[in-house]
Amino acid sequence: MDVGGAAAGAGAVVIEGERIVAVGGARIADRFPGARTVDLGGRTLVPGFIDAHSHLCIAALHPRWADLSGVRDAEGLRQALLAESAAEPDAAWVRGVGWTDLDDGYTPTLEDLDALGLDRPVIAVHYSYHECVVSSTALESLGISDSTPDPPGGSFGRGPDGRLNGVLYERAFSEAHARSMEPYRDPDRWADLIAAAATALLSEGVTCVHDAACPPSAERVYQGLARQGRLAISVLMMPHAEALLSPLNPARLDGPTTGEGDTRLRVGAVKLFADGGVLPAIQGRIGGRDISLGVAFEGLEAQVATVVGRGFRVAVHAIGNRGAQVTLDAFASAFRSHPDDDHRFRMEHATLLSRPQTARLRELGTVAVVQPGFLHHMGGAAEGFTLEDTTWMPFGDLAQAGVVLAGSSDTPCAFREPLVTSARGVTRRTSKGSVLDPSQSLPYETWLRAYTAGAAFAGGQEYERGRLAPGLLADLVVLDGPLDPEHPPTVSETWVAGEQVFAREQDQTGESG
Ligand SMILES: [Zn+2]
Repeated sequence: MDVGGAAAGAGAVVIEGERIVAVGGARIADRFPGARTVDLGGRTLVPGFIDAHSHLCIAALHPRWADLSGVRDAEGLRQALLAESAAEPDAAWVRGVGWTDLDDGYTPTLEDLDALGLDRPVIAVHYSYHECVVSSTALESLGISDSTPDPPGGSFGRGPDGRLNGVLYERAFSEAHARSMEPYRDPDRWADLIAAAATALLSEGVTCVHDAACPPSAERVYQGLARQGRLAISVLMMPHAEALLSPLNPARLDGPTTGEGDTRLRVGAVKLFADGGVLPAIQGRIGGRDISLGVAFEGLEAQVATVVGRGFRVAVHAIGNRGAQVTLDAFASAFRSHPDDDHRFRMEHATLLSRPQTARLRELGTVAVVQPGFLHHMGGAAEGFTLEDTTWMPFGDLAQAGVVLAGSSDTPCAFREPLVTSARGVTRRTSKGSVLDPSQSLPYETWLRAYTAGAAFAGGQEYERGRLAPGLLADLVVLDGPLDPEHPPTVSETWVAGEQVFAREQDQTGESG
């Protein structure tokens, strides 16, 4: 049994085995005379962070692909992809990921990829995972030609002459992505990479992630890892189609239902998509002009009805305000069909909302699973795009309306440390250095609650994690430094199920490194 003292004078937490058994003032230790005492020396004790929207199973594969996030010109792209081709000589596809068209990034072209002279298809995936550029060989392998019509929910980029330019959006992207992933789905290697990526999260204080798009192949890998005791953190798997952005394969509904599993690995809500990521469905007025942009995927309401009817909970990606509208309509309809269920609807992103939509989230008991880190890369673009009667990243409005906020990163599509992304939710600072709508700022403490209790609620895990309360898992993080968004604190210790699993090394001066 351990007694951990929290911030000076603030109290103590008693843990026994993997659970918290008591929380109270410093004198609570007197009730547990045999307990080992851990003095936190004025540091802050918080529950382990839960990243409520992570793509751990995809992010884990990044070491196998060329990292294009730092590419600034055609020569940098060329070097990265040729090195990748040499590193993965047997893979059917050469993959690079993470290029950005924001700030000083470089957008690859079909010509760049063809000029590599590789005989295998090449794909360069945008950081959003909703867009890519592919080579001519890849287009051929995918069976796409100048005369191929756009697929439902996706589109092919074309030059001024109408010919394909190698850019694929949304479901056109996801088909190519799924095909190019096949050589990288070897379960043993994938398992090793997921195990390593999960362990690395401990240094950031993350003790649980919700894997926000878990295809059947990844569910099998997670199950193997859990069986072998190789998952360092807890994972909530959110079932999804094998091809990202696609409707769930109905056969999956015969498998384990939301809530099944144990504290280390559990099934979460089914993940569906209402709209695009680089082409979110946006509708409204700008400067007195009506606009309607982006992709809204067909058939969401029927998919939600099927999933809910089979006893699963549901989470829907909605970035644009029209995506949010379709999502809220689908939730309302499912609620009418099953008025007595605890639906715990999740709207993933909730990035552009009107006030009436925010109120509707609250009415339907929908959790907003949000990414304060998006302020960095999307904030600058959003600034120049002000739709009447709507707000970008309306975190203040949501909190004020009483909507539960769950904190998350959307890694690898954005940076991921909870203490760093939370700070963006306070400062609202964009990559351009500007501040997006400071009226929507929320305090640091509110973000840490979103990353703990809020995220646990989103995952239906509030009875097992997310707070310092008796009976819950002793997943704990010790923070060093004040909650200052300009200088975020660091994680000095992480505990999972009552065991210390990470401790930051102290340097010579005794300050944490
Ligand atoms: Zn995502």
